Amino acid sequence: MIDPVQLFAQLLRQLYRRATAAFAIHCAHVTLLAIYLWQELPLSIFLAWLGIAMTGGVWQLFAGRRALRYIAEDALKRGALTPDIFAAGAAGLGFGLTAVLFPYLSLTTKLVVILMLGVIAVSALPRLSALPSVYTAFLLGTLGPLVPVLFVLDNEPGWSAIPVILLMGVSLSYSARQLHTDLLESLLSRFGLENAAGEDKLTHLANRRRFDMILEQEWARARRSKQPISLIMVDVDFFKKFNDRYGHQEGDHCLAQVAMALSQSARRSIDLVARYGGEEFVVLLNQTTRDDAYAVCERMRSSVEKLGIPHQDSTLGHVTISMGGVTLYAKENLKAVDMVKTADKALYRAKAAGRNKVVWYDPSLDEDGNA
Ligand code: GH3
Ligand code: MG
Ligand code: MG
Repeated sequence: MIDPVQLFAQLLRQLYRRATAAFAIHCAHVTLLAIYLWQELPLSIFLAWLGIAMTGGVWQLFAGRRALRYIAEDALKRGALTPDIFAAGAAGLGFGLTAVLFPYLSLTTKLVVILMLGVIAVSALPRLSALPSVYTAFLLGTLGPLVPVLFVLDNEPGWSAIPVILLMGVSLSYSARQLHTDLLESLLSRFGLENAAGEDKLTHLANRRRFDMILEQEWARARRSKQPISLIMVDVDFFKKFNDRYGHQEGDHCLAQVAMALSQSARRSIDLVARYGGEEFVVLLNQTTRDDAYAVCERMRSSVEKLGIPHQDSTLGHVTISMGGVTLYAKENLKAVDMVKTADKALYRAKAAGRNKVVWYDPSLDEDGNA
């Protein structure tokens, strides 16, 4: 059985991923609105508006930090979603209340505000749809006040704008449910379907069997969505020598630590880290560009290095990993297994280049028959 608390934690993690970037976007939206508003509002009202708009963003930022701390401390209680709904509602309302200022505003600025509220509602969709009730709170806060204000005001743009706003709200909340279903489906295929049969006993990562299954699914998804997909092969350096010197049991302990460091470095809930076999791991990052995937790999490489597990027979003095990666657009003439072979070629070059390195597949270097 899938652990509901773990599933909830994954959804919350998705909700608050890149919380600082989301806050920066919030500030950018406030700034843009402020540019239009400050000329047309009395200073005191403008400052009050600014305070309310910023409070919503800060509230949501802190709610995110708090939720992620609970996840890290394993102190998450299932169903404890109320603070997140309130925070999202407040963030939305901070923007939505701009509608109350319509009597002060020119027609152009009113139209800009309506357009901006639409943009704000859409831009929060990919993140907040992880939990549709949270997104709905945000949506109601953002678009909700517009409807009564337009209803009451008897000048332009007037009632005619109301159906458009209602339609936007309904379509966005429908999209949020669809995105949520997609996310659940991919989370369940990682954590739910196979469980014991799909888990590696030593590292508690997905095993080769589950990896093969998910690779096929994700490949099909990448082909449909036309988004890039990245696959990375990871191999522990000089591991035979590690076993020879410290013993097999220490070797197992070392593999478990490396596995933990790898999985903690993959932060998105849909990222997959699996044990491919022996001292080899594989990382699958869907909807990830080459640069983002490379950054994840560097984080993994350095986090294993920082474990500081001594290894006297390594030229590097401690346990390290080498990584070979590839980023592709899934095309008809390619198969999912081709990615594994290609990443393996890059890994070979990482080893040849001195180990403890991340190398990306390069056809001009890797297709010379040296793999
Ligand atoms: P390289 O830097 O080129 O990767 O060298 P290496 O020694 O890591 O590579 P090689 O493939 O020669 O050795 C892999 C070793 O990993 C062989 C085996 O003893 C060890 N190994 C594989 N699976 C396990 C395991 O489950 N537990 C332990 N303790 N060791 C394992
Ligand atoms: Mg190996
Ligand atoms: Mg090795």
